[in-house]
Amino acid sequence: VAGPLVLVVEDEAALAELLSYNLEAEGYEVATAATGEEADLLIRERMPDLVLLDWMLPGGLSGIELCRRLRAREATARLPIVMLTARGEEEERVRGLALGADDYVVKPFSLPELMARIRAVLRRARPEAVRNMLRAGGLELDREAVRVTHQGREIHLGPTEFRLLEALMQRPGRVFSRAQLLDAVWGRDAFVEERTVDVHVGRLRKALARAGAPDLVRTVRGAGYGIGAAGTNS
Ligand code: CA
Repeated sequence: VAGPLVLVVEDEAALAELLSYNLEAEGYEVATAATGEEADLLIRERMPDLVLLDWMLPGGLSGIELCRRLRAREATARLPIVMLTARGEEEERVRGLALGADDYVVKPFSLPELMARIRAVLRRARPEAVRNMLRAGGLELDREAVRVTHQGREIHLGPTEFRLLEALMQRPGRVFSRAQLLDAVWGRDAFVEERTVDVHVGRLRKALARAGAPDLVRTVRGAGYGIGAAGTNS
């Protein structure tokens, strides 16, 4: 089942790619547009569940102008919009919110924070579109309640172990490198060493073992960590 569709409107190709990659890892379906005009066309073709809209766009249609247009049109009047703004654009931010953006995130942003904002906006606007439960190998992770159970029994985890498990459970069977887990759990700008990931994976394993869960976290030598058997999605 495809997740909610997020339209990323961002002219910086590297940032658009980073956002797409991380949104897909969170289970979203992603479309991208590099200009306001392209975004407008895509929205008319297929309505996204949320628009992640960069403030500064090349061409005739800026982020704010697109936001204004979307709000003025009946079909998109309530389409969730999260604006991306650069530092020092406080005034524009206020204008953006006045024009109907649901939230804004200031660049450079932390990915976990951005993902949390997107989830929060979607949850408010389209509660049915947000998947809050992740399942893998008899584990159930409830993002809303911040609760993990194994075959119905609760497992108590620290906040970092919870986010680590959440990252792994988003793609059961997939192997994540330490760098990818660092980005997902601590954010891209955090100064954390890769061996910190090993420490928290160790704690996560202990917590799972204490709860009587089998060792679900796999170590793939030279590659990283994964959960569940490769290729399975149970
Ligand atoms: Ca831009």
